Amino acid sequence: MFSIKLEYSERYKRLPTYIFVEIEQLISEKRKKGVDFIPLGIGDPDLATPDLIVNELIQQVKKPENQKYPSSMGEEDFREAVARWYKVRFKIDLDPKEEISNVIGGKEGVANITRAFINPGDIVLCPNPGYPVYENGATKLCDADPYSIPLLAENNFLPDLEAIDTEILKKAKIMYINYPNNPTGAIITDKFLKKVSDYAQDYNFLIVHDNPYSEFTFGDYIAPSILQIDQNQVEINSSSKMFNMTGFRCGWVAGNKDVIKGLRKVKSQIDSGCPIFIQKAVIKGLNEYKSEKKPKIVEDTVKIYEKRRDILIENINDIGWNTVKPQATFYVWTQIPKKYSNISCMEFVKNLIEIGVIITPGTGFGKFGEGFVRFALTQPESRIKEAIERINMIIN
Ligand code: PLP
Repeated sequence: MFSIKLEYSERYKRLPTYIFVEIEQLISEKRKKGVDFIPLGIGDPDLATPDLIVNELIQQVKKPENQKYPSSMGEEDFREAVARWYKVRFKIDLDPKEEISNVIGGKEGVANITRAFINPGDIVLCPNPGYPVYENGATKLCDADPYSIPLLAENNFLPDLEAIDTEILKKAKIMYINYPNNPTGAIITDKFLKKVSDYAQDYNFLIVHDNPYSEFTFGDYIAPSILQIDQNQVEINSSSKMFNMTGFRCGWVAGNKDVIKGLRKVKSQIDSGCPIFIQKAVIKGLNEYKSEKKPKIVEDTVKIYEKRRDILIENINDIGWNTVKPQATFYVWTQIPKKYSNISCMEFVKNLIEIGVIITPGTGFGKFGEGFVRFALTQPESRIKEAIERINMIIN
């Protein structure tokens, strides 16, 4: 029998094991033994996509013209709907012909945007803790080097720009920022965006504002976009969280036309776009926006997460944790109880898997996440309460 000897590439070898895969393996072993799990790990909404969007999709998928290859940069009407959304939501003008590209979910945008601009050995500034794709899919897969910017509690989980070595800033080509932030739930003001934009101009790097939680905000806070401050930069957003559409895979990149041009060229050699009928369904959702205020289909979801957030915080603080309410996202980021400070957050999470509670260890988002865990508010209130009761039994 002929067998080939395969060697993984050096690039491949730099990728870490995706933390959720490791946790999934542990869970599947327990599941076989009959453990009833309460999954508060991965940020995948348990809520359904609004009927309005699903019904549109059903109509659109029946049309033969929507069953063909899409354009990888997005259909014209999709890009126009995204431009209209930026106008009503952020009061900014974008040209759908040159300043917007569709992506197959924000993740694809995060990973592919670097391919047009990054050379081996270049530096990409990545928040840590942060969405792992910045350091891996976007940076290491381009043979470039991530530079971790710590997001620390004492800085309200904002990057301390003054603390970054100026030699690093001079060499940096791209900086990812993500506010409302995963995993910390932190938010920003226009003032912060202005400061980052000034740094980007002084040191000549591109800011990629990854903004998939822009609509998941509580109270009076309205999340800004970097494009309101500086249209030399780009923003990534998607329908995944906004409309509970993680499985549909539809997003967009908007802003600097040279960046959009580069991304489109890269994409034209890699993918054939998000299905047309899905783009049409997302247009239906985007058109619900009449102002910066969330439309009912989004507000209904946000209210549910707000209630779950309050229940989780109240119950977890009652059993001795010290957790602050986030003003955005559907995550709660908190330090593990003091008496567990001698073990890693991964070990702590493994203890919770034993009792059927799944949360994510802070180090899943980078080394500066040590000591923290992230709860995703993706289960009904009763299950969140039950999870805290189970945690109480082992920690107290
Ligand atoms: N960026 C951040 C910070 C995320 O948390 C996620 C998903 O969890 C994404 C990007 C990707 O979202 P999607 O590809 O579903 O649009």
